[in-house]
Amino acid sequence: MGGTFINRNVDATICRRCGRPGDAKAFALDPIFKQVVCPQCVKERKKPGSTLTAEKPTDWDYEDEVLEKTHKLKQQQKPKETIRYVRINDEKIKIICPKCEFPFVYNTVRDSPRFCPFCARRAKPS
Ligand SMILES: [Zn+2]
Ligand SMILES: [Zn+2]
Repeated sequence: MGGTFINRNVDATICRRCGRPGDAKAFALDPIFKQVVCPQCVKERKKPGSTLTAEKPTDWDYEDEVLEKTHKLKQQQKPKETIRYVRINDEKIKIICPKCEFPFVYNTVRDSPRFCPFCARRAKPS
């Protein structure tokens, strides 16, 4: 009996940000804190002068930029229909099928197989 300040009749929970107990129904996922916080935390964040006001987390911008760059790079790196291959030895090369990306060994001496064994696309490096 006693000691606890959480009313057991409400769905009480502890704010993971400030540690204050509160009604779980009033808690919300905050886009700035990126976690579920109590209404007090949201109120504090919205206070004028708060350093947390609608500021975009810096890492988001960064990630977006990186994603965009890698996306652009990928586009540049993909000239159409270039057959990728790795030389294994004098005779054999490993071809990555340009259509289905299935890797298979091509024998340059026997000139075989000329087609991808998986999708039957002509996949001989010129
Ligand atoms: Zn809180
Ligand atoms: Zn294929």
